[in-house]
Amino acid sequence: MTISIEIPQPDDWHVHLRDGDMLAAVVGYTARRFRYALVMPNLVPAITSTAAVATYRERIMAAVPVDAADFRPLFAIYCSRVIDLDDLRRGAADGSIAAVKYYPAGATTNSAAGGSSMFDFMSLFEVMADSEIRLLVHAESTDPAIDIFDREAHFLSEQLAPVCAALPELSVTVEHVSTSDGVDFVAAHPRCAATITPHHLARDRSHLLANGMRPDLYCKPVINSTTDRAALLAAATSGAKGYMLGTDSAPHPTTAKYGPVAKAGVFNAAYGLEVVAEAFYQAGRLDQLGQFASTNGVACWGVEPPSSTITLTRETIDRELATSLTTTKGDEVVLFGTEEAALWTIQTTPVTAATFGC
Ligand SMILES: [Zn+2]
Repeated sequence: MTISIEIPQPDDWHVHLRDGDMLAAVVGYTARRFRYALVMPNLVPAITSTAAVATYRERIMAAVPVDAADFRPLFAIYCSRVIDLDDLRRGAADGSIAAVKYYPAGATTNSAAGGSSMFDFMSLFEVMADSEIRLLVHAESTDPAIDIFDREAHFLSEQLAPVCAALPELSVTVEHVSTSDGVDFVAAHPRCAATITPHHLARDRSHLLANGMRPDLYCKPVINSTTDRAALLAAATSGAKGYMLGTDSAPHPTTAKYGPVAKAGVFNAAYGLEVVAEAFYQAGRLDQLGQFASTNGVACWGVEPPSSTITLTRETIDRELATSLTTTKGDEVVLFGTEEAALWTIQTTPVTAATFGC
């Protein structure tokens, strides 16, 4: 049976575009499919100023393919002691800085410059609350005494909860929420939103570990239990406005994935939307896909609604699917979601602006 759904053009509220030849190899996947994309700042060195955003934006736009005509990257800067508050205010006012991203030091890729405690940044967060600048949080404890599967819950209760209590006007996004505890936290905090990734919606730790260790599914925060996945899917399909798609697409070469220590990150820019569509379809909630992938993010960030739609069709046809990409330097990156991509076709459909009231 063929099933189709038309949704406003989606956005990606959490993506790693990298730099150099990797940027050139991956940006087209995001730019052709998504309109807004909130680009993460964890380069080396980290993006911490309007000047660094401006040059990174130039490198990104130079790499965007010509057929991605309406790609609108937004930028978070890295929460660090070197942030100049006047520069942050200026960047927020002119739109060049959309948000500040807090990384616990050592939690994930290129996070060595992050904070050891959120409480060290309270004066910065106060400025952000006053200036209505959103704080993005990688909510994961780095305390080695805490079990890896409990680290999100621990961070939320020990770090983010006191910050939200002290600064109730601060808008926060819990990035790549990965547990039922995370969903409960967002539900209990009215100024908190959350991004959810395709891989956390569609896979659990048994996929990661049960039939041989799968480095391509290894990410931070680590994919958690079946119960956690069910809570994420229920939240994403609930129609609640605080949940939005953030792919956390994070390419690593196979040489960094298949060695003795796998780097954290799933490259899902190519097929992430198909993965989400299939998860919603299997949950019987395909009608909520537009809310999660398109509408909620635009409303949360107060940006212009799209003037085009995409149509997703689930049908059994023969498809030629790429399973990896290769950069100009010869690095191979595995594409996540080929199973779901084999089931779905996605087409972009221009419509009149009046359709979405912009
Ligand atoms: Zn990320």
